[in-house]
This record gives sequence, C-alpha cells and structure tokens, in this order.
Amino acid sequence: MNSLHHPTPEFPAHLEALYRQFPFERSLARDPLSCIRPLRENPTAAEVAGIFAATLAIGNVTSIRRAYADLERRIGHDFVALAEPDGAAEARPALRSFRHRWIRGNQLSFLAGRVAATRREHGSLGELFRGGLEDGGFVEGLDRLAQSLRGPRGSRATAPRGYRALFPTPIEGSHSPCKRLTLYIRWMSRSGFPDLGVWRGVPSSELRIPLDLHVYWIAYHLGLTHRRTRNWKTVEEVTAQLRTVDPLDPIKYDFVLCHTGISGDCPKERDLSVCGPCVVRPDCLLWRHTRRGS
Ligand code: SF4
Repeated sequence: MNSLHHPTPEFPAHLEALYRQFPFERSLARDPLSCIRPLRENPTAAEVAGIFAATLAIGNVTSIRRAYADLERRIGHDFVALAEPDGAAEARPALRSFRHRWIRGNQLSFLAGRVAATRREHGSLGELFRGGLEDGGFVEGLDRLAQSLRGPRGSRATAPRGYRALFPTPIEGSHSPCKRLTLYIRWMSRSGFPDLGVWRGVPSSELRIPLDLHVYWIAYHLGLTHRRTRNWKTVEEVTAQLRTVDPLDPIKYDFVLCHTGISGDCPKERDLSVCGPCVVRPDCLLWRHTRRGS
C-alpha cells in the first residue's frame, strides 16, 4: 500500500482540464455506449438493449461492439420484443450458437427471460433500481437489480451454467467491483453527455465508478486509491475522491479516465513524448519525484 501518494491540491483543476479537452466524439465511436445511444428516445428499448450491451462488456471495446452487433442481427434489431414474455423462447434458436468470450447464447436467452420477468414485476429495471436506491442507497439498488437478473435459486427455470456469476453484487461479500452493472446504471441514469439519462429520479451524485482496468490504473496512479485490489471497497474509495472534485456528478470523469487508457493517450509508463503535455502529470505517481516541466 502506497500511503504517501496523493494528488496535488490543484488536482480538481487538472482533472477538469483533462475532461474539457477530451475528444469525446473520437472515443464515443469506439465505445459500446455508441451501440445504444441511438435508442435514447425510447427508454424501454434503451434499458433492454443497455443491459445486454453492458453484460457483453468483457474484453476490448472492438470485440464488445462486434458481439453486440452479432446479437442485434440475431434478434432482428428488436430489443423490446426480446423482453416480451415470449421473447426469450422466440430468440432461443437464433441465439444458440452465439459466443462472446465466456458468454454463451443460452445465457443471453435466460437473461431475456429475466428482463421480461423483472419488467413484469417492477415495471422496469430502472424502477427496481430506484426503489432499492431510495430504501437503502446505491448498493441496495444494485443488489436488487443483480438478484432479479440472476433469478430465484432452485426454481424450475434454472439458470445456465455460469450465468449467475455474470451479475455479482457488493452484498454477499463479493470481491467484484461489479463493473458491468455500475456501467449500466451510469449509462441509464446520468443525463450528462455521453450517457442516456433514460432513468429518471436517480441523482448523479449517488452513482459509483465503473472500475475497469483502465480506470483503476489511472485512479491508482493519480492517488485516488491506495488499494491494490480492484474490489468494491476500491470503487467506493475512488468514487469518494471524485466526489470531492464534483459532488453532484462525480462519475462524469469515468468516460475520460477510461478512454485515456483505451486510446493510448496514457501509455501507463513514463514516456515524456506522451506524458509531457498530460495535464494530470503533476498528480501522476510515475512522475511524482520530478518537478513540473522536467
Ligand atoms: S503523466 Fe503519463 S503515465 Fe501519468 S497519467 Fe499522464 S499520460 Fe498517464
């Protein structure tokens, strides 16, 4: 644990500068979020397509977008129909041969059934999350969402092998940062660009950082966490640090931090040709023993 490294007092201004100069359009075109942004005028289609896009968010962004396009083609581009009561059964033959990393088509068919059941019971995935948020905070909302998508244990509709592990929750002592569900909740809830904001009544101040490897690397090197494990405690710690920069919308920096890594804007090593103009270099652990400009 490196307890000595903290960002400079000017860090909020540095981070805001990084945000303001970031080429959003360049990175958005590569991000899986671009797959569902065309649906933002249709909240039902957006929340259903979004949970599939977020569930597929394993691996690099190119393979995620390719997997989503494959799924979209197989279901005939109709996510609303997929979440109808008989949508899972109808899509099952087309999804049978689907593969993306360790995700299989039968898991996606099961997910379609769980999305339909959740929407039947709660009105929408957003309503379920918001109820948990209001009763017990973000973790409660995330847990209710994860539990409903997993489905009841031991029911006749037993989940396919590996399915339940796709939806970890911070309750139950999970060591997971729950990246894909926190990402999904960000996409649905934040109204600030580039997110969709189709779930109303979820304050941006309550959101948690979707802590993928890129975000974790830069958060650690900027001193936003000293934890060496990417788990839920780290999510809370990084979020709390970002809240000191923007209490109302701490997660607005997630896209920028993530794509700074994905794009290669940050080489994740000392490289003066790239790091030289980096506005957060004064805060970066890799440069902490050098004076600004050296
Ligand atoms: S100074 Fe270099 S290594 Fe550090 S965050 Fe900036 S680009 Fe990345």
